[in-house]
Amino acid sequence: RVKTKWAGTRPKFPATDLALQNFDATYSIQLGDLWPSVRAAMLSEQKYGALVNNFSSTADLITDFQSQGCIDFTGVRCSPGEQTGSQTDSALITTSKTPETEPVRPDLSSSINCFVYPRGDISRFKPARPDSNGILGYYLLDAASVLPVLALDIQQGHTALDLCAAPGGKTLALLQTQRLRFLWANDSSGSRITRLHRMLQSYIPKEYRTEDRVRITSLDGRKFSEMEDQTFDRVLVDVPCTTDRHSLMEEDNNIFKRSRTKERQRLPLLQTELLVAGIQAARLGGEVLYSTCSLSQLQNEYVVQQAVNIAQEEFGITVEIQDLLWLTHHFQETFHFAPNLSVGELVLPHLCANFGPIYMCKLRRVR
Ligand code: SAM
Repeated sequence: RVKTKWAGTRPKFPATDLALQNFDATYSIQLGDLWPSVRAAMLSEQKYGALVNNFSSTADLITDFQSQGCIDFTGVRCSPGEQTGSQTDSALITTSKTPETEPVRPDLSSSINCFVYPRGDISRFKPARPDSNGILGYYLLDAASVLPVLALDIQQGHTALDLCAAPGGKTLALLQTQRLRFLWANDSSGSRITRLHRMLQSYIPKEYRTEDRVRITSLDGRKFSEMEDQTFDRVLVDVPCTTDRHSLMEEDNNIFKRSRTKERQRLPLLQTELLVAGIQAARLGGEVLYSTCSLSQLQNEYVVQQAVNIAQEEFGITVEIQDLLWLTHHFQETFHFAPNLSVGELVLPHLCANFGPIYMCKLRRVR
């Protein structure tokens, strides 16, 4: 029998196979009938979005996208009479919902613009080219990863903390709003922070990333509250996770490698600690957005539930889960959302709209 030429180097248990086994076991139970189609999508080519860089000259770019039939999915606007749904909190979550708390209304009038090819169109975007000032016109990313930033509802003059920021797709989206007075981008990984620095140099002119506007650090996010006052209007906690799509497709840096089993098992604890630190970093009335790119309930709803309980019991901080049904209503033309989650919303990969998975849950610090 003739061996294929890479047979000698192929690992005995490829991490991608281990990931698929793990997902088949857990997600078939969690997602039931939905799992086969989500599985097929995750094993197929992912669809990207082009986040428009408002710091470059964008007029020609937008005309070019439109002539190719691309759609700015963020362009959907909320009509004043439209209802925001109400999400009932999970029985497991002990958040205090006060009657005077208004459901959070969407404000989609920010300058975040992200183009996608229409449903079922699997064309790819070309790599972005620099404008006459050397600034790149757009950033390619999973379009669903713009949703957590939209959900954060950045207002004029806000301060924001991006606790796990690198390589920086969401940091760049936050800056596109052009409403932030100050943004602190942090990531514990030095090498990934270097990538974030390089990305910002390619997208944001120097005068918009001075120390008083954008601060970049490489700290353990879990220790953030020990160093800083609790003052941020908005906190993004986009945690390390099993990065489900990557884990199914790439051997490199795959968290399902046997050697990384312990690290993988410890993820929910690390995620909880990071979310608690994020909650502590928010001011009273401030909002925290927790997100992952995993389908796992253990890394999503259960982490939120744990963090909410710890914040209350250990730190006397009360947070409320915020309704994100408005977001699913507005973007249902572009993304598939999982039904009936206890807390938060989840973008499910689908062959006609192959974005995600992205889980997000919004919390508000009320005491
Ligand atoms: N928000 C990023 C974006 O949109 O490009 C992606 C963040 S990635 C999902 C998770 C990040 O968490 C990784 O860059 C990782 O280095 C960082 N991380 C892991 N442990 C951390 C910790 N204890 N404190 C801060 N960051 C951490």
